[in-house]
Amino acid sequence: MSPGERRATLVVGNWKMNGSRAANAPLLAALRASAPFPGGVAVCVPAPYLGEVAAALQGSAIAWGAQDCSSHDSGAFTGEVSAAMLAEFACRYVIVGHSERRALHGESDGLVAEKAARALAAGVTPIVCVGETLAEREAGETSAVVARQLGAAIARLGDRIGDTVIAYEPVWAIGTGKTASPAEAEAVHALLRTRLATLSPRAAAVSILYGGSVKPDNAASLFGQPNIDGGLIGGASLNAEHFAAICKAAA
Ligand code: PEP
Repeated sequence: MSPGERRATLVVGNWKMNGSRAANAPLLAALRASAPFPGGVAVCVPAPYLGEVAAALQGSAIAWGAQDCSSHDSGAFTGEVSAAMLAEFACRYVIVGHSERRALHGESDGLVAEKAARALAAGVTPIVCVGETLAEREAGETSAVVARQLGAAIARLGDRIGDTVIAYEPVWAIGTGKTASPAEAEAVHALLRTRLATLSPRAAAVSILYGGSVKPDNAASLFGQPNIDGGLIGGASLNAEHFAAICKAAA
């Protein structure tokens, strides 16, 4: 990183398809009560809850966002939610290309890149997820897979990749309790960083989050790595105490 350039620290909760109106209110109130946090914090929630989450977090240091958006602007796309709709709810972030969407909904690198472009056009920061499966890791393909996934986003977004957040989430570590060791995660983050740095100084300043079974007891060692700028947190983000502890570990 060049002198004076700082990467933002960020911890983002991914609620996935969890929550209820009854459960969300105390979770958000407890999280608000745990502030301040040393870096940025956000929660990405199921779309139907965006209105009430926005109301609950308004005026706090905690941002909110969604977990997906359409690759189209508007029209006959039943069930889809556009990035412009997310912007209307003041979403700061939207996750795109989460491995669950890639695996369960057949999302390609190209589609994910298009979603990221729609998000940027709407003024919402895309959190672009990349990561290899266990089979790909065991075949020695981790570098090639994440480079291909990031490359598709760069090819579509050009210099605007500098306005995104990247999340490295090894698929084998998501929801499994198996975390990449700090050294394993750092090796991939460094590779992603090098690729971004070849583009422009702005790209070099993109925050790269680690995701995959981050818990209060392993967060500090992961976030302490030079190229890990925070985390994307699934299961542990549903527990206010655990999520707050992870947010506080991202100093
Ligand atoms: C995720 O869903 O992005 C994730 C990292 O999940 P977990 O923390 O539960 O592994």
